[in-house]
Amino acid sequence: MFSKILIANRGEIALRVLRACRELGIKTVAVHSTADEDAMHVRLADEAVCIGPPAARDSYLNVAAILSAATITGAEAIHPGYGFLSENADFAETVEAHGLTFIGPTAEHIRMMGDKITAKTTMEALGVPLVPGSDGELKSLDEARAVAAQVGYPVLIKATAGGGGRGMKVAHDASEIEEAWSVARTEARTAFGNDAVYLEKYLDKPRHIELQILGDNYGNVVHFGERDCSLQRRHQKLLEEAGSPAITPDQRNAIGKTVTDALSKMGYRNAGTLEFLYQDGQFCFIEMNTRLQVEHPVTEMVCDVDLVREQIRLAAGEKLGYTQSDVTFSGHAIECRINAEDPDTFAPCPGTVAVYHAPGGLGVRIDSALYTGYKVPPYYDSMIAKVIVHAPTRAEAIARMHRALDEFVVEGIKTVIPLHRRILADPEFQKGDYTIHWLEQFTARPH
Ligand code: ADP
Repeated sequence: MFSKILIANRGEIALRVLRACRELGIKTVAVHSTADEDAMHVRLADEAVCIGPPAARDSYLNVAAILSAATITGAEAIHPGYGFLSENADFAETVEAHGLTFIGPTAEHIRMMGDKITAKTTMEALGVPLVPGSDGELKSLDEARAVAAQVGYPVLIKATAGGGGRGMKVAHDASEIEEAWSVARTEARTAFGNDAVYLEKYLDKPRHIELQILGDNYGNVVHFGERDCSLQRRHQKLLEEAGSPAITPDQRNAIGKTVTDALSKMGYRNAGTLEFLYQDGQFCFIEMNTRLQVEHPVTEMVCDVDLVREQIRLAAGEKLGYTQSDVTFSGHAIECRINAEDPDTFAPCPGTVAVYHAPGGLGVRIDSALYTGYKVPPYYDSMIAKVIVHAPTRAEAIARMHRALDEFVVEGIKTVIPLHRRILADPEFQKGDYTIHWLEQFTARPH
C-alpha cells in the first residue's frame, strides 16, 4: 500500500479523496493554485504545494508543476479526481514514466475511450449494444446523408473527440443534414482540434443510465449497478439516482453481465463508468468515462462501498477480493448537485459565503469544501456541494432530500437549491417519469 498520495484536484473531490486516504492511513499532498490558498483541501492535507496562478491551465493542468510537487514531497501515487487531468492519457503515461502510480486505468485504455469512435467499435466488438449509426467516422456529407437515410431521421452528428455536449448537432430531416454536418465539424475543430465526426440515430425519449464498474489488475471486474442521470441541462447532470426508477433488477443484472464480461476481456482496471441511453427497453452504449464520476456517492450509498478506497487499493495492486454475487443493493439514493448559479438563469455566482450550515441527520451526506467566509473563486467549475441522501425507498429518499435542502443554509451567493426543491415537488419527477429532455422543459415552465 502507498504511504503518501498526491491529490491533483481541488474542491469537494480533493476532500473526498483525502478522506479515503486518511481512513487508509495514507498521508496526503494537496496541490493548489494561488486562488485556492485558503481552500479546505489545502487546510486538511498533510502537506500542500502551490502549483501556479489561478487559471487552471497554469495550475491544475500544469503537469510539470504537479510532478515536481510529487517528487519534492515523496508522494508515490497521484489521484486525479474527475475533470482536469483525470482523462488525460499523456498525463497518466508521464506519471508512470516518473516511477509514480497513476490511480486509474492504463493510459492505453484512457486513450481508447477518449476517442468515441474507437470506444464504440471496441465495445461493439465485445458484445455491448450501441445506438444505431455510422460505422465509425463519416468521411463525407454524402456518407452522412446515406447513413441518416438508412437509420432514419432525426439523427445526431457527434464529434469523436467530444465532451461536455460540445460538437453535437441534431438534424431533424434531410434538409438539416448539411448544416448539422458543417456546424458539428466546425465546433469540434475549434473545441478539440479534431474535426472527425460520426452519426447516431437521435433518440427522442431516452434516459441516461450508466453502470459503475471496478476492475483489478488480474482481469476481475464487477459492477455496482446503475445510476440514472437523465436530469440534465445542456448535457450537464444536475440530479442523479441509484437505482434507476426505470429498470428492474433483472435488467440491471443482464446489462451488468454484458459490461463486466466485455471489460474483463479488455483487461480494464480501476474505476470506470459506461454510459448508455436507455429507451424502449434497450440499452445503447454512448461512451465510457475512465475515472471516478461526480455522482459516484449514490452508488456508494446503495452498495455500501467506498469507491475511492477501492481505487487506491486496486492501484496498489491488490485484488478485488470479492465477486459479483457479493455486491448487494439496498434502498435508494439521490444526489443533488449544488452549483453556485442563479437558479433561473444559471449564470455563475461566485462570491463570499456569508453563512454556511450543512444539513445532517440519518441518511444524509454532504460532500463539499465550503465553509462560512469561504470565497468561491470565479475560475473553476460552479459546483460547490453535493447533497446525497439514502433511504429504504425512493419516496422516502425524496422526502429526506426535501428535508435536507430545507436545512441547508448557503448565504451570500446564489445556488440552485430552489430549483432542486421544485424538481423534488414535481409529480412527474416523483413518479420517476422523465427522460433526458425533461429538465430543459421543466426549467422553461413559468413558476
Ligand atoms: P459528451 O461526452 O459531450 O457528454 P455524450 O455522448 O456523453 O457526449 O452525450 C451527452 C448527452 O447528449 C447524453 O447524455 C444525452 O443527453 C445526449 N445524447 C447523446 N447521444 C444521443 C443520441 N444518440 N440521441 C439522443 N441524445 C443523445
